[in-house]
Amino acid sequence: MEIVEGIVLKTSDYRENSKILQVLTKEHGLIGIYLKGANNYRNKSFALAQPITHALFTIYYKTGLSSCFKGEIINNFNSLKIDIEKNVYLYHLFELLLKNLEQHQEINYLFNLILKLVIRMEEASLKDVKIFTLYFELQLLTYLGVAPVLSNCVECGSTSQIANFDITKGGYICDKCNCSTLKSYAVETLQTLLYLKKLNIDEDIAISDETLNELRHLMSDYYLYHLGVKTNSAKFFKS
Ligand SMILES: [Zn+2]
Repeated sequence: MEIVEGIVLKTSDYRENSKILQVLTKEHGLIGIYLKGANNYRNKSFALAQPITHALFTIYYKTGLSSCFKGEIINNFNSLKIDIEKNVYLYHLFELLLKNLEQHQEINYLFNLILKLVIRMEEASLKDVKIFTLYFELQLLTYLGVAPVLSNCVECGSTSQIANFDITKGGYICDKCNCSTLKSYAVETLQTLLYLKKLNIDEDIAISDETLNELRHLMSDYYLYHLGVKTNSAKFFKS
């Protein structure tokens, strides 16, 4: 028996009144946890079995499904849970984690980062939530080894006259290598992408709506091309 700290990413009903949770834990990365009785609102474990809940779980850890005996909620994030607009973005991130992470791989860095962002999202404006989302997506790409090349032209290596971004090649493109058939991104979008990658997330961030919108499309196209991933939540993105 051990105690793990985790954030609930997803829940599904199991048998009559139990649930299976997909939890991103600090100790074991992504794991499945069986929680008996959690589908009954009178049961104490009901509150534990909600997406976004941050809690300590006392479990029998297994490589298959771990079973939980008791849990202690650290943060319910109640106001975030009922904010439908913010949830679109947060659930989008949860889906990306569920679709791209291997189970049982400890990833302390991503755990700490998503926890930090969830805490900040509760108070943040919707616009900042959108920015945090892009920031995390960039970090996840780096973790998965498919980060876009932003230090030079992905085609010829030139560091000067960066003119565009090529989704399929995966990075900046210089003026010489740019091709008229490529979708063309605004200079601000190219600059902001690099800025986002190097961002200290504790600082305040200002990005224009137009740039944010273009970055949203760029990022979704990038995930689709390089990881074959499109989330259900993405359908509800608003510009
Ligand atoms: Zn080039």
